[in-house]
Amino acid sequence: MGDDRKLTTQEEDFSAWYNEIVYKAELAAHSQVRGCMVIRPYGFRIWELMQGALDSMFKETGHQNAYFPMFLPQSALDREAQHVEGFAPETAVVTRAGGAELEEPLVVRPTSEAVIWPIAADWIDSYRDLPVLLNQWTNVVRWEMRTRPFLRTTEFLWQEGHTAHVDEEDARAETLRMLGIYRTFMEDWMAMPVYTGRKTAAERFAGAVDTFACEALMKDNKALQAGTSHYLGENFARAFDVRFQTVEGEHAYVHNTSWGVSTRLIGGLIMTHGDDTGLILPPRLAPIQAIIVPIWKNDEQQAAVLAVAREVEADLLEAGIRVRVDDRQGMNPGAKYYDWERKGVPVRLEIGPRDVEAGSVMTVRRFTPEGQDRKRAVGRTELVAELPAQLERMQQELYVEALQRRAANTTTGIEDYEQFKDVVEQKGGFVFTGWCGDPVCEARVKEETKTTIRVIVGDDLASHVPPASCLCGDESVMEVVRARAY
Ligand SMILES: [Zn+2]
Repeated sequence: MGDDRKLTTQEEDFSAWYNEIVYKAELAAHSQVRGCMVIRPYGFRIWELMQGALDSMFKETGHQNAYFPMFLPQSALDREAQHVEGFAPETAVVTRAGGAELEEPLVVRPTSEAVIWPIAADWIDSYRDLPVLLNQWTNVVRWEMRTRPFLRTTEFLWQEGHTAHVDEEDARAETLRMLGIYRTFMEDWMAMPVYTGRKTAAERFAGAVDTFACEALMKDNKALQAGTSHYLGENFARAFDVRFQTVEGEHAYVHNTSWGVSTRLIGGLIMTHGDDTGLILPPRLAPIQAIIVPIWKNDEQQAAVLAVAREVEADLLEAGIRVRVDDRQGMNPGAKYYDWERKGVPVRLEIGPRDVEAGSVMTVRRFTPEGQDRKRAVGRTELVAELPAQLERMQQELYVEALQRRAANTTTGIEDYEQFKDVVEQKGGFVFTGWCGDPVCEARVKEETKTTIRVIVGDDLASHVPPASCLCGDESVMEVVRARAY
């Protein structure tokens, strides 16, 4: 395998490291169309596990899945002014089909507010029909100039929730409920801590009254917007005439929300946990949680070792673990170790002739917190009994590790602009500062430092004394989290 084994280190070139993991861990492949991405089976299984967890949470909170077409008439997109202004530059438009020019161009959905509400408006007559709680798992297209696998691709997979409510209070509660579900998923399943909060007007979704986001810190100290939830007010209801009869018998516009997470989460997973050896997957999202590598020197050993490996596999499957035996012939155990470490499998189980005799298995962890043993011989019965709990512990340990890294790379107590610029240049990470609330000041700091306001600090984050002044020297009216971001 030679040099193919070596990855560029994170220290050398984080961006090159990321790309190598994506392709060498077989998560994705290049497509025939620039900016598009092929998701390979190993990467797609991670997405399926993410979908499974999120979909259950959506259903538990009363949402139903549906499917709407990928095309919409240009005139529908044009109906909400801010929305079309935000998305028009990146839409793909079909002008010719069936061998002829189309009478009206069709836009390939960049998001589906303008696909769903003209139709779903007919499903709502009175307050009794509300709320409408829809979700769809689908693809969308945004013609991006600079693309990176999983992080920014022209076509990507996501889920988009679209809901309609009787009033602002109910819609805002939904917006925050879904933000909370995203946060729970990112922390409990991805082991990726996030700051959540409101976006500034400049960073808002096109057509939203308020946008809320989950922001995670990647290992290169840049922020990743990992999910967003929008309160849309009556903007889309007015554009698409989505009205209902109130309890009092009057006509009113519904209040809408929309919210989404995408395959970008896989990029977040890679950059939250991966190391110079490759991917590190939290057990809950690992397509293979334990890989059994049988070790033999001759045919007789091979038969005995493989038989035991199959028994261990069957026992672990029964214990609910996603496990597989790597029985590939003509490949030495060392090469298999590299392969599965690069793919981030949480636990490797080595079984050789001596282990067979001793009735034990050598367990090797992909991630080990400082001070713990990476390798340990365990009796076979003991292994089956304790591996599920051990995987859960690893899940927790990965979260704690990521949380500690974020704490070490979050700066508070910034006194002035010079100090802020120093921190951004020397260290990066999240920086809490004051803000005067002026968009001109926001734009200037963005231009000069390449940082953006990731979220406005809400009650959940205000754990320290907020700064008295903004970076511009004016009085601060709110605290914000700034960072360079993907
Ligand atoms: Zn300012």
